[in-house]
Amino acid sequence: MSDAQPYDLVLTGDIVLSDRIVAGGYVAVRGETIAAIGEGAPPPAKQVADHAGRLVMPGLVDGHMHTSSSTGWPGIEGATASAAAGGVTTVCDMPYDVPDPVTSAALFRDKVEHVHRLSHVDMALYGTIRKDGGLDEIAAIAEAGASAFKVSTYEYDAHRFPRIDHPTMLAAFAEIATTGLMAAVHNEDQELVVKLTEAAKAAGNTSPIWHCRTRPPITETMADLEIFEMALETGAHVHIAHSSLARGFELAQIYRGQGAKCSGEACIQYLTMTEEDIVRLQGFGKCNPPFRSAAEVERMWGAMRAGIVSYVSTDHAPWPRPRKEYAGDIFAVGAGLTGMQSFAPLMYTLLVERGLPASVMARMCSEEPARFHGLNPRKGGIRLGADADFCILETGDFVFDERLIVDREDARWSPWHGRAMKARVAATWLRGAQIWDGAEVKAKPGTGRFVPRQHRKSALDS
Ligand SMILES: [Zn+2]
Repeated sequence: MSDAQPYDLVLTGDIVLSDRIVAGGYVAVRGETIAAIGEGAPPPAKQVADHAGRLVMPGLVDGHMHTSSSTGWPGIEGATASAAAGGVTTVCDMPYDVPDPVTSAALFRDKVEHVHRLSHVDMALYGTIRKDGGLDEIAAIAEAGASAFKVSTYEYDAHRFPRIDHPTMLAAFAEIATTGLMAAVHNEDQELVVKLTEAAKAAGNTSPIWHCRTRPPITETMADLEIFEMALETGAHVHIAHSSLARGFELAQIYRGQGAKCSGEACIQYLTMTEEDIVRLQGFGKCNPPFRSAAEVERMWGAMRAGIVSYVSTDHAPWPRPRKEYAGDIFAVGAGLTGMQSFAPLMYTLLVERGLPASVMARMCSEEPARFHGLNPRKGGIRLGADADFCILETGDFVFDERLIVDREDARWSPWHGRAMKARVAATWLRGAQIWDGAEVKAKPGTGRFVPRQHRKSALDS
């Protein structure tokens, strides 16, 4: 097609690239793809989206979230509507689904069909293994297009979210290494957590703060060490699914220095929430790993600035509200936070508060998660040939309101309800089509597509 022909769509605004911001710029789109990027007067197009004065960010890629942990695959519909409203155009969905986790290529393909029917945004999918193994499915799950694998050192649920014992995990890593995909690991030490929890319960210590006290930092770092030793042994890319501690990233760096493929991500809550917040939020502030001290939040930002955090995700887990209500026993409450619709506004706000540019968000919440999940160069940035996915941020003074969450009624709660935000999502574009206009989700269930991993190149090899 000649460049003289008008583009299908032009978006104007301040274009946020991963290394700089093009003020007064434009992005031109043909079909579903970015065809030109520039500054000054935009070229002719059939449709013009004037976002002048706003930030045109790449659509966010959430590298870690759960659509179906509490409701099964029907949960895809609401969670991805919330993603559309939050400027998140690609989500990497965890495999710990109700009633069955994604442990076979057949289940994986079934889930892909549900994505094509239910999703409002594009989705990449994790696979996992059974507690008793089933490692012969690993190659087939990778072949079916999985972006990564997930396993756990801690047992949240014996069937859905099991602890994988050391021999099985070692064998699984060896098998996963042959696929080139990363193995993301839920990192908490089973024995320590169980013992500390039993002791707290026996002593009648069941108030919210005891969630933190029964999962102290050592419970995370013990698990980090085990999985990184297994990475060194097997050559697998082993990734901490959520480090609440700067030390997790420091350990990954040490192991990389010794030739292992080790990395880790931060969830956004660990960049701002502290133990005082679970006292305030009670069950609605419970997640695993738990919130840490204010000093640890500062160390996390030190790790961010040092460039040793792989990417930032949400760990979005839209539990029904009753599962989060505290009635005297914090251990009876479901672990996990909602975070999809607040992701972009909050990340932007945290960067403003820390004096960091929006390009950090383009890198840490789009480019890097896309790279770690092998979705690049199609996803993860505003560049020629990439999918035309955008998150449009209007900056100013706003307050996050959980009642505006676009998900099923009992999932409209947020630990950030009432928080001052420096931006709101004014529009979202997915492959050249508007899916959120600042008030309403324009996408329909099925607008979103499954995005298979594009290649087997490891993010740690480049
Ligand atoms: Zn998770």
